[in-house]
Amino acid sequence: MTHILEADISVELTKNSKLKDIDFNNLPFGKVFSDHMLLCQYKDGAWNAPKVVPYQPITLDPSAKIFHYGQSIFEGMKAYKDKDSNVFLFRPLENWKRFNISSKRLAIPEIPEAYFMEGLKALLKADKDWIPTAPGSALYIRPFVFASGNGFHASPSDEYLFIIATAPSGAYFSGKVTVAIEEKYSRSANGGVGYAKAGGNYAGQFYPTQLAIEKGYNQVVWTDDTSHEYIEEAGAMNIFVRINDTLITAPTSDRILDGITRKSLIEIAKAEGIEVDVRKLKVSELVEAAKNGSLKEMFGSGTAAVISPISGFGYQGTDYELPELETSYAKILKTRITDIQYNRTEDPFGWRVKIQ
Ligand SMILES: *Cc1c(COP(=O)(O)O)cnc(C)c1O
Repeated sequence: MTHILEADISVELTKNSKLKDIDFNNLPFGKVFSDHMLLCQYKDGAWNAPKVVPYQPITLDPSAKIFHYGQSIFEGMKAYKDKDSNVFLFRPLENWKRFNISSKRLAIPEIPEAYFMEGLKALLKADKDWIPTAPGSALYIRPFVFASGNGFHASPSDEYLFIIATAPSGAYFSGKVTVAIEEKYSRSANGGVGYAKAGGNYAGQFYPTQLAIEKGYNQVVWTDDTSHEYIEEAGAMNIFVRINDTLITAPTSDRILDGITRKSLIEIAKAEGIEVDVRKLKVSELVEAAKNGSLKEMFGSGTAAVISPISGFGYQGTDYELPELETSYAKILKTRITDIQYNRTEDPFGWRVKIQ
């Protein structure tokens, strides 16, 4: 069975709500979890119906394949509340599609659309009061699936758990972000899993990022694995560079995550009359632009921070600073996209999905 209605999803509500203990004016990112989670098991060749249960630990056998072979993928999305407490998602089917694109690459069975969407709606109904209302805050949603089957044999698991957990999160203030352009390590490679939100991709980023932090930067800008000559992503975000008045971002590929924020910003920018150039960008071009003053902005894009402006970068031992602009593209685009997400403006693109 792959069709299910929200009304048919079993819901076991918690008897011990943590809601009253949470300081909604002081929410760290992704550290406080809502009362419930969606739980769905794959067994005997099929997904069982998802159910909403109290948020709880899960027990796994030490031989569970997730521990040994890293067969796991995830998504990141948000639920937004408007001033009248209506709840919205932003392009959620894009997350479902990408969830399955990632799963397929890791030989994980795909999730039917109704399990993902109706399951998520049932979860959001149970935890509606966990969706924060303070400006810039939202309920961060983390769908993930991993190999829960047992055995040391290096082969795909025969059992999986699909879970959606949520975390109310405050506005994301990153402060001044400086980045190191990576000259040695790679996040992903041709033919690899860079386009999937596979857990291991992030583990592989931690060490090079630690090295960059030790040198005084906040984050790494990933370059292509073959030549390290081209700009690809900023940490776990897509990257945009503004040279003169043109916004440049790398084309997606095997190695680059097809970000929903990225592709939405491209459309919004075009609608704003901003010239957008989706093309490969050489580090040497970036350095040249920084030297001659035509480099105006750099920023990362992703669901969590939306847009994270970069104030400077380091490359081959030299640091380059970016100008501070009064009216940046980053500011304009962040306002436009969040206005759509929080139902503050019309949504000419049809991206907003009302939930309750
Ligand atoms: C999730 C992610 C992004 C951003 O994707 P969004 O859909 O915009 O949240 C960009 N790059 C990487 C590597 C990611 O994991």
